[in-house]
Amino acid sequence: MGNKLVEGLSAITTSSQEVTPDILVLQFTIVNACIVGEPATGASEWVLVDTGLENSANFILQSVEKRFGKDSRPQAIILTHGHFDHVGSVIKLSNLWDIPVYAHELEMPYITGKKDYPLADPTVSSGMVAKMSPTFPHTSIDIGYRAVALPSDGSVPGMSGWKWIHTPGHTEGHVSLFREKDRVLLVADAFTTVKQESLMSVLTQSEQISGPPAYLTTDWQAAEDSVKRLRDLQPSLVIPSHGQPMKGEELKRHLDMLVSNFDEIAVPEQGRFVDRK
Ligand SMILES: [Zn+2]
Ligand SMILES: [Zn+2]
Repeated sequence: MGNKLVEGLSAITTSSQEVTPDILVLQFTIVNACIVGEPATGASEWVLVDTGLENSANFILQSVEKRFGKDSRPQAIILTHGHFDHVGSVIKLSNLWDIPVYAHELEMPYITGKKDYPLADPTVSSGMVAKMSPTFPHTSIDIGYRAVALPSDGSVPGMSGWKWIHTPGHTEGHVSLFREKDRVLLVADAFTTVKQESLMSVLTQSEQISGPPAYLTTDWQAAEDSVKRLRDLQPSLVIPSHGQPMKGEELKRHLDMLVSNFDEIAVPEQGRFVDRK
């Protein structure tokens, strides 16, 4: 059910990057996932945030072994939402590790086989990835009893000090993760730092703040409200699911620009999910 072209592209360029002492970003070119937890603490508490593509499992397992030792397993997998490039390895890994998978309540139908996402919309952009997007899997996966709703108090299992923040728009139950202490934000797909619709931008990872990946975003008003909410958190470091991490003054400048010009920067000129007033 994966996408062979995307998986092929990903496999030849996969890498990882330690962004803070306790956050390892796994970069599958077309999408990122994160391992969150301090290696020095004896591998007692760590989680995997999102799971990349269907062929990402081996790289994830190798990275885990290097970081925490053989046979280490996380307390949980946290899904920011259920799109194919975030849930690709979740069935394999959650079964292997025998652990729960947390997602927002509104995202549950999409990971328990009850509801499909709409087919991606290729008309939002002339970029290659947008044109390829209707071949992306959009039907829901089913992880059955392993799927658990995130706690309603905002806490994130296995990630002490972090809060989940509901940031709908890209999908109904999309969440971002925020740590107040150092203002680190795992933004997922609420916004990106690469023009995800364009293959050239994705391959070169040229830094450029942008809205959520347009071909899959269904509610632009909610998406705009979510970006504002995230800007108001005043993050010091943002790790997106698409693109490179961004921090400090550069981040602040880019985020303010995105909020002030959301229509121009993020919302496509046309598309099935666009309601131009
Ligand atoms: Zn997505
Ligand atoms: Zn994504």
